[in-house]
Amino acid sequence: MLNNRQLFLQHNAQTTFFPLLLEMQKAEGVMITDVNGKKYFDMISGIAVSNVGHGNKQVLDAITEQAQSYMHLMVYGEFVQAPQVNFAKKLSDLLPGNLQCVYFVNSGAEAIDGALKLAKRYTGRAETISCKNAYHGSSQGVLSIMGSETYKSAYRPLIPGNRLIEFGNFDDLKHINHRTACVVIETIQGEAGVRTASAEYFKALREACNNYGAMLILDEIQCGMGRTGSMFAFEQYQFVPDILCLSKSLGGGMPIGAFISSTSIMQSLAHEPMLGHITTFGGHPVCCAAGLAALNYLIDNKVVETVAKKEQLFRKKLIHSHIKEIRGRGLMLALQFDSFDTNKRIIDCCIKNGLISDWFLFCDNAMRLAPPLIISDDEIEEACNIILKSIDEIIHQ
Ligand code: PLP
Repeated sequence: MLNNRQLFLQHNAQTTFFPLLLEMQKAEGVMITDVNGKKYFDMISGIAVSNVGHGNKQVLDAITEQAQSYMHLMVYGEFVQAPQVNFAKKLSDLLPGNLQCVYFVNSGAEAIDGALKLAKRYTGRAETISCKNAYHGSSQGVLSIMGSETYKSAYRPLIPGNRLIEFGNFDDLKHINHRTACVVIETIQGEAGVRTASAEYFKALREACNNYGAMLILDEIQCGMGRTGSMFAFEQYQFVPDILCLSKSLGGGMPIGAFISSTSIMQSLAHEPMLGHITTFGGHPVCCAAGLAALNYLIDNKVVETVAKKEQLFRKKLIHSHIKEIRGRGLMLALQFDSFDTNKRIIDCCIKNGLISDWFLFCDNAMRLAPPLIISDDEIEEACNIILKSIDEIIHQ
């Protein structure tokens, strides 16, 4: 008889030859318990998904209640379904400017894909711009704008007409012109190893897009929903995008994504041709109910307001000669080590000591810290102690 690990390796498609192979049993709050009863601090939220913690009661109640009323009824956009309406209204109320019209999809990549189509359709232009070391998802369309050749080259031909610019580089903004349909950018680059840009940069980017009628598509799939200390990270930079993409923590642990724009821009998906973007499961009622419950939980418990203080606690505790730098904002942090080897050994040691972290797709010498936002001060202390102890252990190996 094969055990679950062996069956996993045999029957579940693998994306690496060295999966973590931890077999998990239960998750609650910030902790995940494996089948042997060993507990782990979840420092990545799988990834940046479980902002309200695992097993959040309000989210579970909303899921149960909605599932008992109805689950899937009809493809997106035909029936009036209260969970979708309520969630879209709540998001619109929280968002500034004309970001009032929500198209729900199933994932981050789908949100970006829909946003790219919308920008091309609305502007009538074909050229796109994205950033080096940007990650926006893995689908064939979104791969075309990914900021790393390593992950793209095996899958060519991709959609032509994308130019890569350097994130935060003012000079590169000169590439925005009257042929540009859109610039796609993360407010804070996640997989690059948590890189920020200045408010002046985003102001200049916004101006360049305005000057040439290009759409500014903002990817807050990883950094949105409170992770950086404001509900949306762009609120800290004083600009408003034309299209905002959300996913990951948007569903409180359930799969959902969204691209959000003005009603007039969004209308271009409804004619010539009509049904310009369709999805069977996008905005699934149970996912919308879960997402609204998670959002209400963040607001009612003032969770986002605690994030900046928690960041400071991590920064105060994590002082060690081997940590070269702590980058990021709020609870989206990167601990920089000197090499991949050091980083990997520390991460492996953390897992042995009961704390789960990982590195970044385009930055393998930094360790990710993105715990559920509900993490308590005591849990931060304990988690930091495990990280410091693990660093010491690998130094003395
Ligand atoms: N955008 C960003 C910034 C991401 O971090 C990710 C996933 O890691 C995506 C888009 C893609 O989301 P998904 O995996 O749901 O397709």
